[in-house]
Amino acid sequence: MAVREILLLGNPKLYEVSEAIKEDDLRDLPPVVADLHDTLLEFRRKYGAGRAIAACQIGFAKRLLYMFIDSPVVFINPSLENRSEEMIEVWDDCMCFPDLLVKVMRHKSCTIRFRDLSFKEHTMKLEDDLSELLQHEYDHLDGIMFIDKINPLRRKLLKGKLNDISKCKVDVSYKIKVLK
Ligand SMILES: [Zn+2]
Repeated sequence: MAVREILLLGNPKLYEVSEAIKEDDLRDLPPVVADLHDTLLEFRRKYGAGRAIAACQIGFAKRLLYMFIDSPVVFINPSLENRSEEMIEVWDDCMCFPDLLVKVMRHKSCTIRFRDLSFKEHTMKLEDDLSELLQHEYDHLDGIMFIDKINPLRRKLLKGKLNDISKCKVDVSYKIKVLK
Protein backbone atom coordinates (compact mmCIF):
# COMPACT_ATOMS: atom_id res chain seq x y z
CA MET A 1 0.00 0.00 0.00
CA ALA A 2 1.65 3.23 1.04
CA VAL A 3 3.92 4.95 3.49
CA ARG A 4 1.76 7.60 5.14
CA GLU A 5 2.73 10.84 6.78
CA ILE A 6 3.04 10.52 10.56
CA LEU A 7 1.32 13.39 12.39
CA LEU A 8 3.71 15.40 14.51
CA LEU A 9 3.54 16.54 18.11
CA GLY A 10 1.38 19.67 18.25
CA ASN A 11 -1.12 18.41 15.66
CA PRO A 12 -4.56 18.72 17.32
CA LYS A 13 -5.69 15.40 15.77
CA LEU A 14 -3.28 13.57 18.07
CA TYR A 15 -5.28 14.80 21.08
CA GLU A 16 -8.62 13.44 19.89
CA VAL A 17 -10.16 10.29 21.37
CA SER A 18 -10.36 7.59 18.69
CA GLU A 19 -13.70 5.90 17.98
CA ALA A 20 -14.48 2.25 18.67
CA ILE A 21 -14.51 -0.02 15.61
CA LYS A 22 -17.77 -1.80 14.77
CA GLU A 23 -17.95 -5.16 13.08
CA ASP A 24 -19.25 -3.44 9.93
CA ASP A 25 -16.07 -1.36 9.76
CA LEU A 26 -13.84 -4.43 9.42
CA ARG A 27 -13.90 -4.55 5.65
CA ASP A 28 -12.36 -1.06 5.50
CA LEU A 29 -9.43 -2.01 7.71
CA PRO A 30 -7.04 -4.12 5.56
CA PRO A 31 -5.74 -1.16 3.51
CA VAL A 32 -5.29 0.87 6.71
CA VAL A 33 -3.37 -2.00 8.33
CA ALA A 34 -1.21 -2.30 5.20
CA ASP A 35 -0.43 1.43 5.39
CA LEU A 36 0.38 1.14 9.11
CA HIS A 37 2.77 -1.70 8.28
CA ASP A 38 4.50 0.23 5.50
CA THR A 39 4.70 3.42 7.57
CA LEU A 40 6.11 1.59 10.61
CA LEU A 41 8.74 -0.24 8.57
CA GLU A 42 9.77 2.92 6.74
CA PHE A 43 10.16 4.71 10.09
CA ARG A 44 12.26 1.81 11.37
CA ARG A 45 14.45 1.93 8.26
CA LYS A 46 15.01 5.66 8.77
CA TYR A 47 15.41 5.83 12.54
CA GLY A 48 16.32 2.28 13.61
CA ALA A 49 13.36 2.18 16.05
CA GLY A 50 9.60 1.73 16.07
CA ARG A 51 7.82 -1.44 17.14
CA ALA A 52 4.17 -0.37 16.98
CA ILE A 53 1.92 2.39 15.71
CA ALA A 54 -1.55 3.69 16.51
CA ALA A 55 -3.87 4.33 13.57
CA CYS A 56 -4.50 7.91 14.71
CA GLN A 57 -0.81 8.65 14.13
CA ILE A 58 -1.55 8.52 10.40
CA GLY A 59 -4.87 10.34 10.86
CA PHE A 60 -7.24 7.32 11.08
CA ALA A 61 -9.11 8.08 14.30
CA LYS A 62 -10.35 4.59 15.19
CA ARG A 63 -9.27 2.28 17.99
CA LEU A 64 -6.67 0.30 16.06
CA LEU A 65 -3.05 -0.50 16.92
CA TYR A 66 -0.53 -2.32 14.80
CA MET A 67 2.58 -3.98 16.23
CA PHE A 68 5.32 -5.65 14.25
CA ILE A 69 8.16 -7.20 16.18
CA ASP A 70 8.64 -10.80 15.01
CA SER A 71 5.27 -11.01 13.36
CA PRO A 72 2.35 -8.65 12.75
CA VAL A 73 -0.35 -8.18 15.39
CA VAL A 74 -3.47 -6.08 14.87
CA PHE A 75 -5.24 -4.84 18.00
CA ILE A 76 -8.82 -3.71 17.45
CA ASN A 77 -10.68 -1.96 20.30
CA PRO A 78 -7.96 -2.85 22.82
CA SER A 79 -8.42 -2.46 26.55
CA LEU A 80 -5.78 -2.72 29.25
CA GLU A 81 -6.53 -4.75 32.34
CA ASN A 82 -4.76 -6.15 35.40
CA ARG A 83 -2.33 -3.26 35.49
CA SER A 84 0.34 -4.18 38.02
CA GLU A 85 0.92 -2.06 41.06
CA GLU A 86 4.60 -2.37 40.37
CA MET A 87 5.77 0.43 38.11
CA ILE A 88 8.85 0.81 35.94
CA GLU A 89 10.54 3.97 34.84
CA VAL A 90 11.35 4.00 31.13
CA TRP A 91 12.66 6.28 28.42
CA ASP A 92 9.70 6.96 26.22
CA ASP A 93 9.86 8.04 22.61
CA CYS A 94 7.28 8.46 19.91
CA MET A 95 7.11 8.46 16.15
CA CYS A 96 5.23 11.75 16.39
CA PHE A 97 8.47 13.21 17.62
CA PRO A 98 11.30 10.89 16.83
CA ASP A 99 14.09 12.76 18.62
CA LEU A 100 12.43 13.58 21.90
CA LEU A 101 12.92 11.30 24.89
CA VAL A 102 11.19 11.63 28.23
CA LYS A 103 11.20 9.49 31.32
CA VAL A 104 7.77 8.15 32.30
CA MET A 105 6.34 5.63 34.74
CA ARG A 106 4.54 2.59 33.33
CA HIS A 107 2.94 -0.49 34.82
CA LYS A 108 5.44 -3.35 34.81
CA SER A 109 2.80 -5.77 33.55
CA CYS A 110 -0.76 -5.72 32.28
CA THR A 111 -3.14 -7.67 30.07
CA ILE A 112 -4.41 -6.43 26.75
CA ARG A 113 -7.83 -7.57 25.56
CA PHE A 114 -8.54 -6.91 21.89
CA ARG A 115 -10.20 -8.15 18.73
CA ASP A 116 -8.47 -9.31 15.55
CA LEU A 117 -9.39 -8.63 11.92
CA SER A 118 -12.11 -11.31 12.17
CA PHE A 119 -13.45 -9.55 15.28
CA LYS A 120 -12.45 -12.53 17.39
CA GLU A 121 -11.52 -11.65 20.97
CA HIS A 122 -8.05 -12.35 22.39
CA THR A 123 -6.09 -11.53 25.49
CA MET A 124 -2.33 -11.23 25.77
CA LYS A 125 -0.27 -10.94 28.92
CA LEU A 126 2.29 -8.16 28.66
CA GLU A 127 5.48 -7.77 30.68
CA ASP A 128 8.20 -5.14 30.75
CA ASP A 129 9.01 -3.97 27.19
CA LEU A 130 5.71 -5.06 25.70
CA SER A 131 3.80 -3.73 28.67
CA GLU A 132 5.28 -0.25 28.36
CA LEU A 133 5.04 -0.28 24.56
CA LEU A 134 1.33 -1.06 24.49
CA GLN A 135 0.56 1.36 27.32
CA HIS A 136 2.17 4.03 25.14
CA GLU A 137 0.19 3.01 22.03
CA TYR A 138 -3.03 2.69 24.00
CA ASP A 139 -2.62 6.26 25.26
CA HIS A 140 -2.67 7.46 21.64
CA LEU A 141 -6.23 6.11 21.28
CA ASP A 142 -7.32 8.37 24.13
CA GLY A 143 -5.45 11.35 22.70
CA ILE A 144 -2.76 11.22 25.37
CA MET A 145 0.77 12.04 24.31
CA PHE A 146 3.78 10.92 26.31
CA ILE A 147 4.68 14.52 26.99
CA ASP A 148 1.55 14.75 29.16
CA LYS A 149 2.93 12.00 31.40
CA ILE A 150 5.89 13.97 32.65
CA ASN A 151 5.46 15.97 35.80
CA PRO A 152 4.26 19.58 35.50
CA LEU A 153 7.58 21.10 36.55
CA ARG A 154 9.53 19.26 33.90
CA ARG A 155 6.85 20.02 31.34
CA LYS A 156 7.19 23.70 32.17
CA LEU A 157 10.94 23.50 31.68
CA LEU A 158 10.44 21.80 28.33
CA LYS A 159 7.61 23.98 27.16
CA GLY A 160 9.67 26.75 25.62
CA LYS A 161 11.75 24.25 23.73
CA LEU A 162 8.69 22.33 22.57
CA ASN A 163 7.07 25.46 21.26
CA ASP A 164 10.16 26.12 19.20
CA ILE A 165 10.09 22.58 17.93
CA SER A 166 6.46 22.56 16.91
CA LYS A 167 6.95 25.87 15.14
CA CYS A 168 9.67 24.43 12.96
CA LYS A 169 7.56 21.25 12.60
CA VAL A 170 10.41 18.80 12.67
CA ASP A 171 14.11 19.12 13.28
CA VAL A 172 15.51 15.65 13.59
CA SER A 173 18.85 16.86 14.89
CA TYR A 174 17.13 18.17 18.01
CA LYS A 175 17.34 15.89 21.01
CA ILE A 176 16.22 16.61 24.53
CA LYS A 177 16.87 14.26 27.39
CA VAL A 178 14.94 14.85 30.56
CA LEU A 179 17.13 13.55 33.32
CA LYS A 180 15.76 12.24 36.53
ZN1 LIG B 1 3.69 7.31 20.15
